[in-house]
Amino acid sequence: MTGNVLVVGAGGVSSVAVHKMAMNPEIFGTITLASRTKAKCDEIAESVRARTGVDIATRQLDAMDVAATAAMIRDCGAQVVVNLALPYQDLKLMDACLEAGVHYLDTANYEPEDEAKFEYHWQWAYQDKFRKAGLTAILGSGFDPGVTSVYATWLRKHKLSGIRQLDVLDCNGGDNGLPFATNFNPEINIREVTAPARHWEGGAWVETPAMTHKVPFDFPGVGEKNMYLMYHEELESLSTHFPEIERARFWMTFGDAYINHVTVLQNVGMTGIEPVMHDGQAIIPLQFLKTVLPNPGDLGAKTVGKTCIGDIATGPAKDGSGEKTYYIYNICDHEECYAEVGSQAVAYTTGVPAMIGTAMILKGVWTKPGVWNMEQLDPDAFMDMLNTQGLPWEVHELDAPVGF
Ligand code: NDP
Repeated sequence: MTGNVLVVGAGGVSSVAVHKMAMNPEIFGTITLASRTKAKCDEIAESVRARTGVDIATRQLDAMDVAATAAMIRDCGAQVVVNLALPYQDLKLMDACLEAGVHYLDTANYEPEDEAKFEYHWQWAYQDKFRKAGLTAILGSGFDPGVTSVYATWLRKHKLSGIRQLDVLDCNGGDNGLPFATNFNPEINIREVTAPARHWEGGAWVETPAMTHKVPFDFPGVGEKNMYLMYHEELESLSTHFPEIERARFWMTFGDAYINHVTVLQNVGMTGIEPVMHDGQAIIPLQFLKTVLPNPGDLGAKTVGKTCIGDIATGPAKDGSGEKTYYIYNICDHEECYAEVGSQAVAYTTGVPAMIGTAMILKGVWTKPGVWNMEQLDPDAFMDMLNTQGLPWEVHELDAPVGF
């Protein structure tokens, strides 16, 4: 039995998710792609048709309009709305799902446009509404958050009786040959990296200035890269749902050129999210910066190298053999992703888990009324599908907990 979906947003992540949905016709029935700019949906539909022979429907939609979205959901007969627009649209799309009586899935937590807090409380407040409606909302079905949260759950189910220490390590060893470009939406990416770093330690948040804690790490398939301590939204949900965690940290690699560019842009005020007056018109510096930066969706043809994203987790072994440390990760090749779906690996590693999470709902594996982060759901079927859908994972025991 197949199910119908409405995918909202037509950027890099959406393009991958929709291609992969079309490649799984035994799960996905009618696929409707709607976004603010319909031409972008049409471009994706054209590529999907050329690569898979599957026709998808395209529509124009402003997802901030709840009534219009609910009407579109009914009209296209969707059972799930897959939100691959921006975090600002999350609550409106959750409202539209409740109005139309369908399930919801996204890849990034809600944020108001004028704040960069990366907190879940706005979406967790929908728990009762979704439970009472008998509908499922899945939050953060990308790679991080998403796969890295499912990795943690899998380790906790099969290897460790609890996680004492968790490090999420996100490495992009790719090179696009450009002086400066972000691999996904520049506005969201720069909001993340310029926010103060925060990690969970001994039951409290520890804050440090952005991009000040740097550690070299030898990534499988990539080699040694500098990674920086950052705050990332899954730290909040993982430390909430796995209360035994003593320390949880998130690390991301950046090259020196990237750090220098961000530092200069920040120093001159170009990363600001408060409106400023320019020639009599209010503009938001970071949104203007997005306009002049390369479109991440166009980087695929230029990018070579690999990503390696995973978790290192330490805790008591399930079999009672003492404390153990495991490293679980995926290595993804930019050029192979481009050959398969016409996108680079950062969009691929987010779009594929969005497709798999949606498949979990359509197959009834993850249909549980309420609002759920990925680590709250059974990991096994999702982990199996990662292996068959282009994101195979490896798990290795390390000799000792990480020393950094
Ligand atoms: P893009 O900016 O490339 O695409 C966003 C799309 O959303 C655009 O097509 C845009 O339309 C559309 N959109 C924006 N506002 C609206 C609106 N009001 N109504 C309808 N459509 C709208 O983003 P990405 O593809 O790079 O990222 C998509 C999402 O994935 C983001 O939320 C990002 O944070 C998340 N992400 C998650 C990751 C994870 O691992 N969990 C990793 C990377 C990204 P238009 O073209 O007209 O601007």
